[in-house]
Amino acid sequence: MQFVLAITAVALPGMLFALFQMRHQPKGLYILFFAEMWERFSYYGMRALLIFYLTKHFLFGESQAYGIYGAYTTLVYILPVIGGVLADRYLGQRRAVAIGAVLLVLGHLGMAIEGEPVAPGQSPNEIILNVFYLSLALIIMGVGFLKANISTIVGELYPKTDKRRDGAFTLFYVGINLGSFLGAAWAGFLGETYGWKYGFGLAGVGMLLGLIVFVWGTPWLKGAGESRNPELLARKRFAGLSTQWLIYLGTFVTTILVWLMVRDQEAVGYLLSAAGLVTVAYIYYRSVFTLERHARDRIIAAMFLISIQVLFWALFEQAGSSLNVYTDQQVDRTIFGQEVPASVFQSLNAGYIIYLGPLLAALWVFLAKRGLEPTAPQKFGLGVIQLGLGFLVLVWGANAAGQGNLTPVIFIFLIYLLHTTGELCLSPVGLSAMTRLSVPSMVGLIMGTWFLASGAGNFVAAMIAQATAAEGADGENVVLTVYSYVGWLAVAVGVGLILVSPLINYLMHLNTLSDEAGAGEKKKALTEA
Ligand code: GLU
Repeated sequence: MQFVLAITAVALPGMLFALFQMRHQPKGLYILFFAEMWERFSYYGMRALLIFYLTKHFLFGESQAYGIYGAYTTLVYILPVIGGVLADRYLGQRRAVAIGAVLLVLGHLGMAIEGEPVAPGQSPNEIILNVFYLSLALIIMGVGFLKANISTIVGELYPKTDKRRDGAFTLFYVGINLGSFLGAAWAGFLGETYGWKYGFGLAGVGMLLGLIVFVWGTPWLKGAGESRNPELLARKRFAGLSTQWLIYLGTFVTTILVWLMVRDQEAVGYLLSAAGLVTVAYIYYRSVFTLERHARDRIIAAMFLISIQVLFWALFEQAGSSLNVYTDQQVDRTIFGQEVPASVFQSLNAGYIIYLGPLLAALWVFLAKRGLEPTAPQKFGLGVIQLGLGFLVLVWGANAAGQGNLTPVIFIFLIYLLHTTGELCLSPVGLSAMTRLSVPSMVGLIMGTWFLASGAGNFVAAMIAQATAAEGADGENVVLTVYSYVGWLAVAVGVGLILVSPLINYLMHLNTLSDEAGAGEKKKALTEA
């Protein structure tokens, strides 16, 4: 209990610091900051418990649990492409976020229905298991509507050339991580100490607060994220149903499909490949046939940055699975005489971000004033290098502790530190870049694709986690061998990225960015829309 209270006490000054820094930003940013904070509170609160819920409540084997965990975290990031396209074409981002928030409240509250713990040798109760999968499906659908679109609305609060833009995304990212920090700590603590349903229930209440903040604060968005084609939304299409109602019907049917799919890692793999191929082909088609040259080049640069996401999250997302289990089983977690539950360490990353985010944003400004700020692709390279170094530091620490001994907890603090500084060089920078590099009619699509790449990363992450759980081997050695390999790989890719960064930067054509309506789109495409 003291530990979670301490975490909350650590978060509060960070929150005040971020709010203070927001005084020069549009008021709408406060709304998006708090709505996304609560959404991430519920997402990460639930996720911190998920792997343990699967292995300790339902008694799934480690590998099967990683499979379900991977299918879930992959699907969660596949659906934002569809959410992004629906928002671009019909709903507008604001309405899409509201729909997503409602689905999320239902999903998280559904997770609180846990039934009796499964006894060793018995199978889980079918009804409870299906309620669990349905809850996962509702969360997946909710994130699909919400996640990319809320980030897009942040971008819509600013003109493309507005200098506050990157800072705004960093502050928004602090909001994301305030939510993850408090969510993982509180839901993790309640769930592991008093019972799963309390942790999951708390996640549901958090999401409800997010929904209330968003709906209440809508006027402050001043029209950002409103549908570009409201008349299309109301148009009757099929059997007397309007586009809007068809979207609701489609949502219902897709929820059922996702409900069936989330238990099948292989099927999710196929869906991911198909979604990836179709999305990439469609984006290139749109870029070649509907965009002017500079706008098209920018999309190519965005796609390059998006591809780096796959590698980044594949390694970074060991946090919730293999690194979480490593911390549980192989780390001496005693701090000031108290054994800290493993899931509480899920908060570290977010905790670091709350304080390091604003500092890093200030560092970029400091460097920019001296003409030394790295370009976005260079920041990506630096991010990937730090990610690799994080793994190498843990491997080194574990080896130094000696075979058969628990790893000192300081190395868990260090790996999360390096992963966090890496993330800050890549993730908020990327969100900001996506909204800038895209044309308005494709911004939801591009943002959705950004998260699709995260989904692919999460899928690969599950395969890496499964490799660390190879059967019949000495657990610790397998984990460390895998971590050492991926660590060096990331360092090599990061260096390569820095080498090709001038070319990517050229493709961004930052000097010809314009906020004019339809800038970058060929005239014919505009009239068609
Ligand atoms: N921590 C980030 C978030 O939840 C991760 C985003 C991503 O996977 O791209 O927003």
